[in-house]
Amino acid sequence: MKYLLRLRVPSVMLLRFAVAAVAACTVALAGCASVPGSERQGQTPKNIIIMFADGAAPTQWDFGRYSSKVLRQQPFVTTDHVFREGTVGLLITAPQGAYVTDSAAAGSAMATGFKVENGVVSISPDGKSVPTAMEAAKAKGKRIGLVTTATIYDATPATFSIHAKSRRDSQALVDQFLRLEPDVLMGGGADYFLPVGVPGGKRKDGRDVIAAFRTKGYQVVRNTAELQAATAAKVLGLFADDDMDFEIERDPAKEPTTAEMAVAALKALSQNSPNGFVLLVENENVDTAGHANDAASLMRALWAFDDAVKVALEFQRSSPDTLVVITGDHETGGFSPTYAQKDLTSMSSSNRFYTGDAQLRMLERITMSFNAISEKLGKKPSAAVLDELLAKHFPGFRLDPDLRELILKQQPLERNYSYGVQNVLGRMVARQTGYYWGTSGHTPEPVLVGAMGPGAELFRGYQDNTDFGRHLHRLINGR
Ligand SMILES: [Zn+2]
Repeated sequence: MKYLLRLRVPSVMLLRFAVAAVAACTVALAGCASVPGSERQGQTPKNIIIMFADGAAPTQWDFGRYSSKVLRQQPFVTTDHVFREGTVGLLITAPQGAYVTDSAAAGSAMATGFKVENGVVSISPDGKSVPTAMEAAKAKGKRIGLVTTATIYDATPATFSIHAKSRRDSQALVDQFLRLEPDVLMGGGADYFLPVGVPGGKRKDGRDVIAAFRTKGYQVVRNTAELQAATAAKVLGLFADDDMDFEIERDPAKEPTTAEMAVAALKALSQNSPNGFVLLVENENVDTAGHANDAASLMRALWAFDDAVKVALEFQRSSPDTLVVITGDHETGGFSPTYAQKDLTSMSSSNRFYTGDAQLRMLERITMSFNAISEKLGKKPSAAVLDELLAKHFPGFRLDPDLRELILKQQPLERNYSYGVQNVLGRMVARQTGYYWGTSGHTPEPVLVGAMGPGAELFRGYQDNTDFGRHLHRLINGR
């Protein structure tokens, strides 16, 4: 293996694995005998780990790669190991009836092999609830798990397991989870598990679904310490009332990292699993940061995702009959780092800068997400509060008068920017760093798929996202 890769999974995380073999291989992939990869062609995996960065396409992955190298002095294993050493493919993301997809249509295609319309959760245009990857896995006697930084009933975990005409029907989606009984459910979204009247509760039927899961034998965990102490084979982890926080604002005692959730999920799923398991681990903050055009939050979300990929690869070292697939569902934000003029006084090349390490270091110094700023500013932004927040959390950045006016008047940059304050702040950062964005929405840029382990070869080449779903079903059903 020509590329020496060091995995830096914190030793405390590794200790939590029941399997001693994992620890034996922590130092370097290169130090272990063989890398599970294309040599296992034609085989069927026992376990499948799907690592999902919502909103990530090649530009995001590469941003993760060079920012991790420069600012963390760490390889980005998604690109530097899986894409480099494993099988690589691209997926077309178009939904039924359009070219730009939402996460529900994309997730449905990837989970079922069928195109669906935007907003729909794994129901085909002719109204059929087509089998999801998690349903297929369960039917084969496999254990199943869903992990996300979003609400657990958000589009990706929902489409991979259950069905609904609308992704917004949160209460009904939670009811379906209770019926399906995934062995592991971890993320945010306690609100639709608890009735109105209980702190954070939003259910209108008065039910306490957390208690219902407990009755079914689940260990329920609500913070990082409880998660790390969890020993049961079935775990419900709810760490926020709605979405979990961006890394930049995350309270580590309340909310675990994506990697910590992945460790705990693997620990639970590898118990009593003679037929293996299928686990989906999603970092949704990659998409959320993209919608906000927030490059600093995106960078940290990508690192958090990559740390979880390390956990999946470590598990694969001890269980080589495991397929690890890394992908996204669509691109978010039309993310376009570029060169740009420093100001509008001259179009000459001498007035131009190229995005480089100095600009990355400016991003590194940002200490608040655009979403948090927007929340602080509220519906009637005050100039004084805005100035104070920017001075404190955006050292070295200046807000030009045109952008300042847009924020104070609560106006968007253009018609394709739906998040007023956030997208305007995104333009502020872009003007000094070159990290521009083309939209606050999704784009049809094909997404990358990287795979290692038995079955990886199926994901090679330029394919449709429904092909991804068909491959998953084939591998789950034993080809
Ligand atoms: Zn999105």
